[in-house]
Amino acid sequence: MALNRRNFLILLGATTGATALGTLPSACAAQPVLGDKQNQSEETFKLPPLPYAYNALEPYIDTETMQFHHDKHHAAYVKNLNDAVNKYPELKRLSAEELLRNINNVPEDIRNTVRNNGGGHVNHSMFWEIMTPDGGGEPTGAIATAINQAFGSVDAFKQQFNDAGSKRFGSGWAWLVRNNEGKLQVISTANQDSPLMEGMYPIMGNDVWEHAYYLKYRNNRGEYLNQWWNLVNWEEINRRFEQAIAR
Ligand code: MN
Repeated sequence: MALNRRNFLILLGATTGATALGTLPSACAAQPVLGDKQNQSEETFKLPPLPYAYNALEPYIDTETMQFHHDKHHAAYVKNLNDAVNKYPELKRLSAEELLRNINNVPEDIRNTVRNNGGGHVNHSMFWEIMTPDGGGEPTGAIATAINQAFGSVDAFKQQFNDAGSKRFGSGWAWLVRNNEGKLQVISTANQDSPLMEGMYPIMGNDVWEHAYYLKYRNNRGEYLNQWWNLVNWEEINRRFEQAIAR
């Protein structure tokens, strides 16, 4: 749920609605470093383990790409997000998803960091789960029906999704979202921007940053986009579709 600033402050337990998050009293922003060291093992946001082995997605995604993608790239987003919220301990009460839905209420000095690294954390946490070595094939369940209704056919949907990924200049993501009108829609975002920031729910997304495919596919993003469908975990995507409707 997106919150207005007043409700955002209430959620954070601020005592007065007049306290702008961007101008928190310095006493609040500069909490004593007490406990900082021992808290390092208890960071707010944690790197989720991969739900399968590094080599499980071969031959479509190679082992080395998975190692770097998860252990270096995703880990860095988590670290940077933790470093940012450590400046504003009140923000630790919010999930990464809530921070993104309310990105415009996040203190300005860490807003871009939360946008990029909170987005990176949430996007990748989804990404690992919507892939599986037993994936691919035709979609099943409610999402299959909904995709056919929205796009005419599964092939037409895949085409739109791959187009969104190919045409994203530079780095970003291709998405299937449930938009504000409750309709399925294919979009793409730049960098690590999350559809959550626009009030849309990300049902599935493919990472088209070069770090996701370059070791194996080099500059051939189109081939990566085609092969990626062999890994898609329709069961998890059906679960996310249910979540999108329920919220
Ligand atoms: Mn990535």
